[in-house]
Amino acid sequence: MRFATIRTDDGTTTAARLEGDVLIPLDAADVGELLARGGEGPGLARAGAEPVPVAGADFAPVVPRPGKIICVGLNYRSHILETGRELPEYPTLFAKFAETLTGPHDDITIPSVSERVDWEVELGVVIGRDVYRATPEEAKGAIAGYTVINDVSMRDWQRRTLQWLAGKMFERSTPAGPYLVTPGDVGDAADLEVRCEVDGAVMQQSRTSDLLFKPADIVSYASQAITLRAGDLIATGTCGGVGDARKPPVYLRPGNVLRTSIEGLGECLNQCVADKAS
Ligand code: ZN
Repeated sequence: MRFATIRTDDGTTTAARLEGDVLIPLDAADVGELLARGGEGPGLARAGAEPVPVAGADFAPVVPRPGKIICVGLNYRSHILETGRELPEYPTLFAKFAETLTGPHDDITIPSVSERVDWEVELGVVIGRDVYRATPEEAKGAIAGYTVINDVSMRDWQRRTLQWLAGKMFERSTPAGPYLVTPGDVGDAADLEVRCEVDGAVMQQSRTSDLLFKPADIVSYASQAITLRAGDLIATGTCGGVGDARKPPVYLRPGNVLRTSIEGLGECLNQCVADKAS
């Protein structure tokens, strides 16, 4: 099954389930709320709400208000080895905030305060139920499904200090969606192509089979420290091909179109626009 969070005419959002080429509004404000209510299975249709054609839907981030967004640093074997590093014993974890998320078709503002805005296609993992000190097997059962994320990063801000957070916390910089795709559709998302294109040029292309730490490993590891809750989001790390590592480097500019796709999950398609606040 595929679930989404879509914006409604009255300025709110609703969770929805994909059926064919329409979205059936469900009785929850978003997919995170649906999961927090124990929303396994199809969920209840929202009374009186008409199905919304996918073509006309306004997609919000698939989970707009996760309590936590946990990100993994270097996690693709080939990318780690090409940077000359050894394979790490533990995943590098960092966090983002809910305010960094944006819809899968929303514009991405290129901030006037950054010269080095870069892309990172990532497999997203959405937690389906609260889990603490989980074994990898228990962690697997706590995964509601998978989505597409681009962990757009401001490399100048990211590299000013040892901690990366500053480059990872820009408002509405991180497309996530359009769908939460359940394991019933994609299994463990164990061998899917991940790809990022800028203006149609393929910049990143790999497969989730190259992930060093698998989704269940990451959920299990993080849950040793903190309770992961339904609707929390995990970005599992990116593969080679980021703009900052290219020679010469390439960065996103207003006018660029960023296409972020994962086989079987869907794609985010975001136009980069100038910063009106500048
Ligand atoms: Zn990342």
